[in-house]
Amino acid sequence: MSLNEDLRNVALDANGFESSYQGVPPWEIGRPQAEVLKFYAEGEWKGPVLDIGCGTGENALFLAEKGLEVIGIDSAPTAIARANQKSKERNLSASFKTANALELAGVGRFHSILDSGLFHVFSDEDRLRYVQSLASVLNPSGIYRLLCFSEREPGTWGPRRVCEDEIRNAFKNGWRVLEIRPALFETNLEKPQVEAWACVIERV
Ligand code: SAH
Repeated sequence: MSLNEDLRNVALDANGFESSYQGVPPWEIGRPQAEVLKFYAEGEWKGPVLDIGCGTGENALFLAEKGLEVIGIDSAPTAIARANQKSKERNLSASFKTANALELAGVGRFHSILDSGLFHVFSDEDRLRYVQSLASVLNPSGIYRLLCFSEREPGTWGPRRVCEDEIRNAFKNGWRVLEIRPALFETNLEKPQVEAWACVIERV
């Protein structure tokens, strides 16, 4: 990676995610999220798939193993380097690159987007930009699947909690919310499961 690319990536990583990959971040469980397996078992998946905020790629690699064409993006270069290394080691075709989820135009066109743990990091303002950014790369009738922290999770540690109304509100124009169900987000913390929402949202 060139120095310029490095600098650009640091600028993308305003929230300090890159530094969290110098250690083992709490969401790094070394396998796909159980809810992603459920999403896969219960839904129809059509590629190409974008795994947005993919981290070190376990969810994307699981989908690639199932034969889907998958690209993962993340703002943290260390996570992307690890994801690409795993893809190569496992002989899979999934590819990963650094990009900002708020500026996806140019990354490609997708029929499915997976968001495991990204939506809940954004401020209200960035959330609006995020949903616009999703709309710019997801085909009509494409499906966005979301796993995010829910307000049923007590405490203030970690990312912000999201309630059902906020999700419906964020996707009220140009989207159809097909499902919002209570779910669990797995962590490597003492508390291995966190209250979450699993959502299936169609681009109209
Ligand atoms: N999807 C992974 C990681 C979730 S943690 C999993 O389920 O394990 C959230 C991820 O989003 C982190 O890897 C972080 O680096 C990434 N991220 C945060 N802000 C981002 C942005 N603006 N654009 C792209 N990725 C971002």
